[in-house]
Amino acid sequence: MEKPEPLTRLFVRWLMSPVFVLVIFVVFLAIAAGLREGLIQQDSHQIQANLRNEARALTNNLEREFMVHVQAIGRMANRLHVEPETPEQQWRLDTQNYLNDFGVYQAIEWVDSHFIIRWLEPLTGNPDVIGYNVAYNDQRRKALEQAAATGAYDLSGIIDLRQGGQGMVIYYPVGAGEANNGFIAGVFRMEVLAEQLLTSRVLEHFQIEIQESGEPAYLLDSPVDNDQAFIYSLPIQLPTLDWSLTLRPSQAWVSNQRSHWPGTTFASLVMMGLLTALTALLVQLILKRNQALLKTRRELEQEIDQRVAMQVDLERLESTDTLTGLANRRFFMEDLAHTLNIADRQMRQVGLVMLDLDRFQMLNDSLGHQFGDELLIKVSERLNGLSNEKILVAYAGGDEFMLCQQQVDNIDDVIHLLGQIKQCFAEPFEVQGDAHSITATMGVAVYPQSGLDADTLMRNADIALYRAKGQARNTYQFYTEGMQDREVMRLELDKDLSQALANNEFVLFYQPQLDLATGEIKSVEALIRWQHPRRGLLAPIEFIPLAEESGRITEIGRWVVLAACRQLAQWRNTPCEQLRVAVNLSGRELDDESLIDHVRDALASENIDPGKLEVELTEEIFIQNIEHNLNQLAQLRELGVQLAIDDFGVGYSSLGYLRDFPVDLLKIDRSFITHVTDRHDDAVITRAVINLAHNLGIQVVAEGVETEDQLNFLRAHRCNLAQGYLISRPIPAADLETALNEGILFTGYSVSSDL
Ligand code: C2E
Ligand code: MG
Ligand code: MG
Repeated sequence: MEKPEPLTRLFVRWLMSPVFVLVIFVVFLAIAAGLREGLIQQDSHQIQANLRNEARALTNNLEREFMVHVQAIGRMANRLHVEPETPEQQWRLDTQNYLNDFGVYQAIEWVDSHFIIRWLEPLTGNPDVIGYNVAYNDQRRKALEQAAATGAYDLSGIIDLRQGGQGMVIYYPVGAGEANNGFIAGVFRMEVLAEQLLTSRVLEHFQIEIQESGEPAYLLDSPVDNDQAFIYSLPIQLPTLDWSLTLRPSQAWVSNQRSHWPGTTFASLVMMGLLTALTALLVQLILKRNQALLKTRRELEQEIDQRVAMQVDLERLESTDTLTGLANRRFFMEDLAHTLNIADRQMRQVGLVMLDLDRFQMLNDSLGHQFGDELLIKVSERLNGLSNEKILVAYAGGDEFMLCQQQVDNIDDVIHLLGQIKQCFAEPFEVQGDAHSITATMGVAVYPQSGLDADTLMRNADIALYRAKGQARNTYQFYTEGMQDREVMRLELDKDLSQALANNEFVLFYQPQLDLATGEIKSVEALIRWQHPRRGLLAPIEFIPLAEESGRITEIGRWVVLAACRQLAQWRNTPCEQLRVAVNLSGRELDDESLIDHVRDALASENIDPGKLEVELTEEIFIQNIEHNLNQLAQLRELGVQLAIDDFGVGYSSLGYLRDFPVDLLKIDRSFITHVTDRHDDAVITRAVINLAHNLGIQVVAEGVETEDQLNFLRAHRCNLAQGYLISRPIPAADLETALNEGILFTGYSVSSDL
């Protein structure tokens, strides 16, 4: 069921509807009509009052005039009473004077005590009147007799005059009682009387009727357009007469009396109503428009909110790496710039750690990208455990991660973080069902000492990382001022390296390998040096990694093989003729498809027995790109070239590849030999490796033999060959020839060398 709308809502809706506007107008209209009616009523009362005043004035006037004439007639009667002998002629003269003064009389008469008219003035127009008995009926007779008796005057009322027309007669007794000598009678014509009494204004505006004993007696009917709504009757106070005067105003008079206020008030109120209704309508329209605007605004705001949310999602997506879920490089750089700004204001330091997974590339290549991705995710999860409001962890791509430590108070904070990072790699990572021990190498740059902006800090952390990788794995390196110089140097060197081959600046040094069974030198390792035009003789560590990075190592490798073959050719028919030369090949060189052809060509060009050439490869090569490498190695082997595993023991624990690869020699890494006499573990490992190799039919070379004790240990455990400073440092070919000629090497005498 629909919920009823609350009353206030209904009320507001009603206020906003057109009906409300109509109601306002109707209310005003009603008030206007009421007021108008009231004012008209009041007006009518006023008109009635005015009419009454007019009537009163008229009757007063009539009464007063009448009394003037009554008194005048009375005075004439008195004079006749006082002077009864007045001759007719005299009386007539007096009367004429009198008539001249008052034009109102039709005639003035003397009526004797028998009510017979005796004297009359004027005679003209009234010929038949003399001798007329005025007591022509009982009523008149009684009235006249009473007047004669009392001396009070009598009025005849309106009568048909003998002279024609209507008129009225005042009978004033000449003496009273016994002394009565008739009456002086003044005859009026009504028209004349009325004209005398009433002004033209009155005649113009009113219809006047005189009633006698309630019956219309005389009508002065001037205006025709009487207003029937107004009428006023008033008794006329005249002795012996029962007269009343009725006044009917003309429409013109009435409308003249009417005030303009009812109309004006009505019009004003209707106008006000109209205006108020219009205003209400306007307010409604404005409010409705406002509501519509508000609604639109709300919708807009909703849309903006949605857009902002989408924007935030987009930004989050843009700032996040899809594989690892960590912040990406772009976001990291923006955040770093922002962090540096804050650090600048707060006078604080910021730590930037670049982290590179050791051997990741190799694992990725050998175990597949799926494995690589899963490993990266696992590493990300652990590193992300370190992130908090002060530490941002990001994925930089490849096998690199970045960490930004905000608000570093002193360098111990960064070292603490590095410890925490290392801790993340303490446990092996479980990937695709196997546990893999992974280590990481880190480069650290600290703001502000290692760089003042994000880019510089980043570059310097990278330099520090590069340095750290150059030294050892599973370590870290802080950026220092000198590194920058070294980086510059490195770049310069890279430039120079491009010219080195053309300028013939490379040279091979040879380090002899002592056959422990016979005490003979039958093999040497060729180790490259760069005779740099400005920097002098440079060791391989200073340029081989650079050459590997830039890919120049392939060309250099070709040169080494060729140079070694040439050297072998040169030694032909000399005491060095029996020497076998070992050359080092880096993994990159093995990638080169034309390697085999090139080695074959080099051997052929110098007519060298392939058995005189040995190729040293580091352990890693046997793990990376297994199929391709196995194929290359097999082909090398087919050429008759000897294969050796260099730096054995530092790379991989798995020895399975020894079985699968066609290897002739195994070179135990110097790190085992250095402490072989004083560290039990190293001695055990060395012994085990020698036994393992011998069991597989592989010869063993010990690298880095520096003491006779080491030599004795190796000989005692039947190591086949020993190489190290004890026998000789790597030396130029000429020096080697001399040393061999002089037979001074075996005794431990070391030929002086620049390196
Ligand atoms: P490596 O192949 O293991 O070479 C042995 C290194 O150990 C040489 O360093 C040698 O001077 C040094 N060494 C030998 N005996 C002793 C010793 O008793 N004590 C100490 N402390 N060191 C000893 P070097 O000549 O500086 O070469 C370093 C590395 O550079 C080589 O390690 C090799 O991996 C690489 N390398 C050298 N020449 C070439 C080359 O022509 N091509 C390639 N791809 N790599 C080369
Ligand atoms: Mg070597
Ligand atoms: Mg080695």
